Amino acid sequence: MISFVKTYRCTLCGRTVLPHEAKGACPSCGEKGILDVEYDYEKLRGVVTKTWLESNPVRQMFRYMPLLPLEQPHVTRMLDVGWTPLVKSYVLKDTLGLRSLHIKDESMNPSGSLKDRASAVAVLKAIEEGKSVVSCSSTGNAASSLACHAARMGLQSVIFVPKRAPVGKLNQLLVYGADVILVDGDYKDTYQLSKEAIKTFGWYNRNAAINANLVEGKKTAAYEIIEQLDFEVPDWVVVSVGDGCTLAGLFKGFYDFMKLGLIERLPRLLGVQSEGCKPLVDAAITGELKEAEENTIADSISVGIPRNPVKALSAVSASKGAWIAVSDRSILEAIKDLGKEGLFAEPASAAGYAGLKKAVREGIIEKDASVVLLQTGSGLKDPENIRKVLLTPILMKPDLGALKTYLKNKGDHHHA
Ligand SMILES: *Cc1c(COP(=O)(O)O)cnc(C)c1O
Ligand SMILES: [Zn+2]
Repeated sequence: MISFVKTYRCTLCGRTVLPHEAKGACPSCGEKGILDVEYDYEKLRGVVTKTWLESNPVRQMFRYMPLLPLEQPHVTRMLDVGWTPLVKSYVLKDTLGLRSLHIKDESMNPSGSLKDRASAVAVLKAIEEGKSVVSCSSTGNAASSLACHAARMGLQSVIFVPKRAPVGKLNQLLVYGADVILVDGDYKDTYQLSKEAIKTFGWYNRNAAINANLVEGKKTAAYEIIEQLDFEVPDWVVVSVGDGCTLAGLFKGFYDFMKLGLIERLPRLLGVQSEGCKPLVDAAITGELKEAEENTIADSISVGIPRNPVKALSAVSASKGAWIAVSDRSILEAIKDLGKEGLFAEPASAAGYAGLKKAVREGIIEKDASVVLLQTGSGLKDPENIRKVLLTPILMKPDLGALKTYLKNKGDHHHA
């Protein structure tokens, strides 16, 4: 296969690294010098055209193979990742008074989150590099998706998770047969241990920001949004942010399509964090990134030291977007709101909707805007936190009379 990758460039110092030498961050800057994959857009313009996309029969993320940093197309054995539904909203669109609202349901991916797009690329890259063990540290979803795709492709996975990882995500890891290292510490400690272990043992590193190929996997969500909207660019795209790789990926996807002449402008990006952990929201105001506490129920975005701040902050500013922080209470409320649309979101995912609601209320997003919201992960992963907002149903005797009395007292006229 021909690769259209030109080079990997450091987002801090601008140094370029050859594709086969780009194994981590920038050799000059170290861990903060996150690399960005650059493509030969001139050549790609003759390949990735609207006609080519419209006649492309592949209905998963590898339909965009020329736009990915992969050399070998071993995709047939992979589980299908991507081409997730873009759900048209009726209820929430009216509640917010928006012109249109679509929800990209990433919980429909094989392991139930958007992380599958990055893990699918990681596993193929590991195979290209001849590695048999893949590893990462994660608050949960990156871990469960890596374990999922590694299992499928016959690789071993070693996964570091903080002790607060929700039970649904932990169960997934164990079912997929990962070697789970449950770290007695927070995400920062977990990340540090994984970093040392990966270096010591030479495993394939799926730590999101450090590995520039992963943002490339995530960007396919943006391509799909554009195709599913029939090449109409939405005014705003809203997503919750932890490390910043998802946001950076969305930006890259829209940017690629603009470079290829498939769209004429970029949507504005709204980055949402939790009030209990909002280092990027603060950095956007002060211009300085400071370590934050990790104090939120939204575990997937509870990231005290974001690993991809440069790409995330510049994605929002280059798109003329905005940052916003939301309370845990509003996140839990947002889970119930999304339920009205038939969607089940984990807290970190619902944070996106809580942010959208607040941005509309504050006039950051205009009433007549067209908006796409990312539903990044499934509510089935975190039963404990979701229970906090739900009423336990009463226990009913198996008796029709008792049921009638109950419904009458409840004043439910549909059934009475
Ligand atoms: C990882 C994740 C995010 C945020 O992605 P980052 O790349 O860490 O910013 C949001 N929601 C869910 C469910 C996630 O798993
Ligand atoms: Zn550098």
